Amino acid sequence: MKIHEFQAKAILKMYDIPVQDGVVIESTEKGLEAVETVEKEFNAKQFVIKAQVHAGGRGKGGGVKFSPTKEKALENIQNILGMTLVTPQTGPQGQLVRKVMVTEAIDIAKEYYVAITLDRAKNQNVIMASTEGGVEIEEVAEHSPEKIIREWVDPAFGLRPFQARRVAFALGFEGPAFRQAVTLLLNLYRCYEETDSSIAEINPLVLTEQGQVLALDGKFNIDDNALYRQKPIHAMRDVHEEDPTEVEAGEFNLNYVKLDGNVGCMVNGAGLAMATMDIIKLEGGEPANFLDVGGGANVETVKNGFRIILSDKNVKAVLINIFGGIVRCDRVANGIIQAVSELGLSVPVVVRLEGTNAELARELLANSGVDIISATGLADAAQKVVAAASRG
Ligand code: GDP
Ligand code: MN
Repeated sequence: MKIHEFQAKAILKMYDIPVQDGVVIESTEKGLEAVETVEKEFNAKQFVIKAQVHAGGRGKGGGVKFSPTKEKALENIQNILGMTLVTPQTGPQGQLVRKVMVTEAIDIAKEYYVAITLDRAKNQNVIMASTEGGVEIEEVAEHSPEKIIREWVDPAFGLRPFQARRVAFALGFEGPAFRQAVTLLLNLYRCYEETDSSIAEINPLVLTEQGQVLALDGKFNIDDNALYRQKPIHAMRDVHEEDPTEVEAGEFNLNYVKLDGNVGCMVNGAGLAMATMDIIKLEGGEPANFLDVGGGANVETVKNGFRIILSDKNVKAVLINIFGGIVRCDRVANGIIQAVSELGLSVPVVVRLEGTNAELARELLANSGVDIISATGLADAAQKVVAAASRG
């Protein structure tokens, strides 16, 4: 789960990490009050207005505006709130800005990059840092990988102070700023672990003209499987920033990820779902989605899954590939029959049911009058659905 910058900063503050602070508003009427609060509370003379969307690269898209006066700040609030912000990460359709953060402007002496994530190849968390903060770190990683410092963390010890010092030293911090950077790194590591983050990123981390080290931006990705024990963070979820069909699928306990192809897939079990996508590609097709209806698929899940797949206008054919282990195929067949009779069939549907009660399921489907294409085996199913999609 992703969160907004202002939420990330609230978490950082709880771990004693200094941030570029401010106030969040959702309407322009609150603009003046917000600017005056920031002026008083943070002793700010100048301001930055920052669009709150989950996508990064806001600065490049015009979603971060330096405002030298209160008047300019109000003008930028007017312009940014309600705009459709297009950044390299939003896609061309952009993202509606529903919230802005009014912050104090910081006098930046230098920008850095710091992040903590899991290095799956090494089975260890890794601190990544660079003196090339602010710009897209992907570019640095690609064109000058030597500029990224990495420090791996032994899970038995956690981040040790000498490691934090090594990173701060490599970044070129000196004197009091060095000590601040070391403390910040140790706090960030504790924060990363205790929040069950899969990534905690500060880009840029800045050294101010006044010699303070602080987070100008913050980004967290929280492990969805840990949200049950991260209640306050879970409450930060902003579904406006997520794909609406994925949100709806989540409500029905369906594991759905939208993709760009035209073959809709309804499968039980993540492994079979992956295999199904592979074989569709092998036959020259492109899956429109990943959908795992889970082990306990019943009439309702099948129906909801079907509706969600069909709500994607790119879908030209659907493959239902269910292995009846825990779930019985006749139940799935009944789900398909009900779904089709309620929702109608706008595209061809290929069905492959194997396992418990598969015979009975085939009979049910055959006698139902529902116009499906029956398939035996994975290859046969994939060939049929890819052919049907290309005809559509
Ligand atoms: P992002 O583009 O979504 O990553 O948004 P950031 O919060 O990282 O801001 C983008 C850039 O705006 C930063 O890298 C800074 O260069 C600049 N910026 C943001 N706030 C300030 C500020 O208070 N003072 C100055 N001088 N620049 C700022
Ligand atoms: Mn940033």
